[in-house]
Amino acid sequence: MSTTAEETTLSVVVPMYNEEAVLPIMAERLRKVLDGLDVSYEVVAVDDGSTDATAAVLVGLRRYWPQLRIIRLRRNGGHQAALTAGLHRSTGAFVVSIDADLQDPPELIKDMLDLARSQNLDIVYGVRDDRSTDTVFKRWTAGVYYRMMRRIAGNRVPHNAGDFRLLSRVTVDALRALPEQQPVYRLLVPWLGFPSGTVTYSRERRAAGETKYPLTKMVRLAADSVTSFSAAPLRIATWLGLAGFAICMALVVWVLVAYFLGVTVPGWASLSVVLLFLGAVQLLCLGLLGEYVGRIFAASQGRPTFFIAYDSAEDPTPLPTAPLQRQPEPDPVSATR
Ligand code: UDP
Ligand code: MG
Repeated sequence: MSTTAEETTLSVVVPMYNEEAVLPIMAERLRKVLDGLDVSYEVVAVDDGSTDATAAVLVGLRRYWPQLRIIRLRRNGGHQAALTAGLHRSTGAFVVSIDADLQDPPELIKDMLDLARSQNLDIVYGVRDDRSTDTVFKRWTAGVYYRMMRRIAGNRVPHNAGDFRLLSRVTVDALRALPEQQPVYRLLVPWLGFPSGTVTYSRERRAAGETKYPLTKMVRLAADSVTSFSAAPLRIATWLGLAGFAICMALVVWVLVAYFLGVTVPGWASLSVVLLFLGAVQLLCLGLLGEYVGRIFAASQGRPTFFIAYDSAEDPTPLPTAPLQRQPEPDPVSATR
């Protein structure tokens, strides 16, 4: 059994999806760090509906590592959903979230904890000052993402701070109280504006396995990030609408002049241009509106972000470790909004 709620100083939340390859190395390195900290701790491994042997490996590890708590989600809900499950269930006075793939060095947890305790901080961000091990594509998309986020969510969003961070209990409870359906923690946490510090590190290469963030999941994260923090895209729609209106007015004048001058010919070209242009503007605006309407819809449904299938803290009997069956993608409105 893991330590009880009153005793736990540190919870380490590790969301993982199909990480069988990296888990044993991760567990060994993490355990060395945590055992050396001399505080009571729990490791909350959130198995995000893995379809490989992740669940079995976790059960095996837990046999010799009682502080390892296994939470299994019923289906793959994505990185942020898994993180949400972990944050909601963790009990520590401090909660560190860290990726399973060892790209964020667990050794830094000690520095984070020391900093938070010595300076009485609520948040300590892990900031990557060197991403040279990431692919060029990853670095480029991440660069665009962080620039955009700092613009819309404010400069409090630290550059290149991912989901490796320490939060105090107060911060975790504040996050839990937010009604967000698709929380994007790397924006929400800075938005809280609680006293914070940073520790820097250079991002390492993934220790094993492949990235679990294909382009579709990256796009989903970016869409959630933008639409949860800014109505600016709707304003683009307004500006486009205005510009379209101005151009149309000019065209009307031109048409009238041409009409009175008697030079009207079967106006195929101008008609097509106008039609195409207006169609394009309208579709774009509709799409933008749809993004927000979709979010309002999802929020009004109030569906949970994650479903717990198993929590070793509640039921210490080992869980059946057969991999979950791959489910068809859930319907896009409820899944992605
Ligand atoms: N992850 C998850 N659910 C998903 C996708 C990813 O829990 O649907 C976890 C993954 O196991 C890892 C973390 O999120 O611990 C970050 O994913 P990954 O390292 O693949 O992303 P990258 O570093 O390539 O951006
Ligand atoms: Mg990674």
